[in-house]
Amino acid sequence: AWEQGWIQPQIARYKTRKRIAVVGSGPAGLAAAQQLARAGHSVKLFERQDRIGGLLRYGIPDFKLDKRLIDRRMAQMRAEGVEFHTNIHVGIDIPARKLVEDYDAVVLAGGSEQPRGLAIPGRDLKGVHFAMDFLRSNSKRVQGVHVPDAEFISAEGKQVVVIGGGDTGSDCIGTANRHGAKSVTQLEIL
Ligand SMILES: Cc1cc2nc3c(=O)[nH]c(=O)nc-3n(C[C@H](O)[C@H](O)[C@H](O)COP(=O)(O)OP(=O)(O)OC[C@H]3O[C@@H](n4cnc5c(N)ncnc54)[C@H](O)[C@@H]3O)c2cc1C
Repeated sequence: AWEQGWIQPQIARYKTRKRIAVVGSGPAGLAAAQQLARAGHSVKLFERQDRIGGLLRYGIPDFKLDKRLIDRRMAQMRAEGVEFHTNIHVGIDIPARKLVEDYDAVVLAGGSEQPRGLAIPGRDLKGVHFAMDFLRSNSKRVQGVHVPDAEFISAEGKQVVVIGGGDTGSDCIGTANRHGAKSVTQLEIL
């Protein structure tokens, strides 16, 4: 049934011979790469993580977003000519200058990955984590990627407090419940 959801590729009828590098494979990088390929450009997409998708892949949990949606979109984009390169950290594995020299244009779609800490007493205590450290290690395990126990944050049997009530906070609640947390309390400033 899933295969029936295959989306027909829209292959560009004319090629511009322009080469474009897209840095980052979240929704911004994916959308930019697809539109540029459909306009006839030759597009390479660089992602520093081991899989394509940005926060769609390892941020938003599997119970909220079926990862086959990303895989299906990637298959369509491959058919349209987009090349995917994972485990390439632009600025470290490839100098940014080289991209600028080798390509006609470079799209920066690296997202916003700096977590915002709380400057309050107790912030440094054991057991206080940033949401993405909790969610990323969980998503990787759910998707079959090896995560050493030392890096995995489990909420099993714990009394969990989630600070923040947006998408990220609710994903932490859903994940903590699925781990088997003893209790989950959410605090929201609004
Ligand atoms: C837990 C969580 C839940 C969310 N839930 C929802 C939701 O339900 N609905 C909704 O609409 N939005 C949701 N969001 C927000 C949404 O995920 C983001 O707005 C969106 O992913 C931003 O897209 P982006 O492409 O700009 O960045 P990202 O998705 O962050 O992708 C950026 C990518 O760039 C890569 N990158 C960065 N620097 C480099 C580099 N130098 N070289 C190579 N690669 C690099 C990163 O590894 C990353 O894969 C959620 C966010 C989080 C954290």
